[in-house]
Amino acid sequence: FQEHSYRDTWVEVDLGNITRNVEQVIRSTGQQLDVMAVVKADGYGHGAVRAAAAAVQGGAVFLGTALLEEAIELREAGFDLPILVLGRTRPEDAETAREYNISLTVFQKEWLEEAAACMAPGQALSVHLKTDTGMGRIGLRSDEEIIDFLETVSSQPAFDLEGIFTHFATADEQETSYFYRQHERFKEIVELTGKIVQLPPYIHCGNSAAGMRFPDRCFTMFRFGISMYGLTPSAEINEELPFALQPAFSLYSRLVQVKKISPGESISYGATYTAEKEEYIGTVPIGYADGWNRHHSTNGGYVLINGEKAPIVGRVCMDQMMVRLSGPEETGTKVTLIGKDNGTEITVLDAAERLGTITYEIPCMISKRVPRKYI
Ligand code: PLP
Repeated sequence: FQEHSYRDTWVEVDLGNITRNVEQVIRSTGQQLDVMAVVKADGYGHGAVRAAAAAVQGGAVFLGTALLEEAIELREAGFDLPILVLGRTRPEDAETAREYNISLTVFQKEWLEEAAACMAPGQALSVHLKTDTGMGRIGLRSDEEIIDFLETVSSQPAFDLEGIFTHFATADEQETSYFYRQHERFKEIVELTGKIVQLPPYIHCGNSAAGMRFPDRCFTMFRFGISMYGLTPSAEINEELPFALQPAFSLYSRLVQVKKISPGESISYGATYTAEKEEYIGTVPIGYADGWNRHHSTNGGYVLINGEKAPIVGRVCMDQMMVRLSGPEETGTKVTLIGKDNGTEITVLDAAERLGTITYEIPCMISKRVPRKYI
């Protein structure tokens, strides 16, 4: 993300809060578990390199990305701790991963054969076997497939089995029976693995929700994503987290025009908002091209100005939107879209619930066009 810009709209990322969230979670798990900082999707929209550095400062010992290019970005930025690509990488790119000493997620026997054929001799490629215990996304499922895969991987000097893992579908829900079923199946797989090969050093299943709620079920490491950024994995477990998360992401802008309109005058495309009395309207330079979704203007969307709520009126445009002010504010007045203002706060969860989505999507959605400022 660029840090300098010519516009009056910006994201503020509090890196100290990322460090504190990692420190707190390590404390809350009794320091029994390694933490993988998940910094895919440019660190959930916070900036991968800066977020990773803050997480490492807090005690993270592994980094996780979705894509090989995201992992390479971290290596090239100078991180020398282990990095795992959590998604599938093409077998023909295994050699690149090996050169960068990046660990890959694997779950297909044919993949091992194709990758080995593309790889130069030398240092083995570190791999983590992904097992599907109920997420239904990627991973091996049956005992037979897992045994066959483990026998192949252990007979191939091109690969070093560094980890085995799975991913939970419902760790962030109150109803825990599906979580326990997945956990039981993973435990069986780990026992099975130990009978075929030497157990790898990293055995991991937990995401943020599981790491915080069920640390004693997380084997050796958990993958800390959303809550490393201080955000709750879901509204329904927000009240039962073991410590207070510190959000890292705030979104601000400034009024670029303030005008008084008369009763009967309308605002924005479609003229869907009409003033009933004399009103002050402010224009805010953010729109849907910045990832500020058009639905923020429905469902009671508002911003904070001098600690007071100012409703978003009329449709959100591509680069701008309008808000109703309580009085004749100055041009240049600060607008808080997400964050704290004079003791009042709009959280990422508030913005997510307004759009009928989850916390994860909000910072990911705010586009590269919005500069990130680091504090
Ligand atoms: N592990 C995998 C495989 C993931 O896909 C994700 C994120 O979606 C995570 C870990 C991190 O999960 P969370 O952000 O809920 O902590």
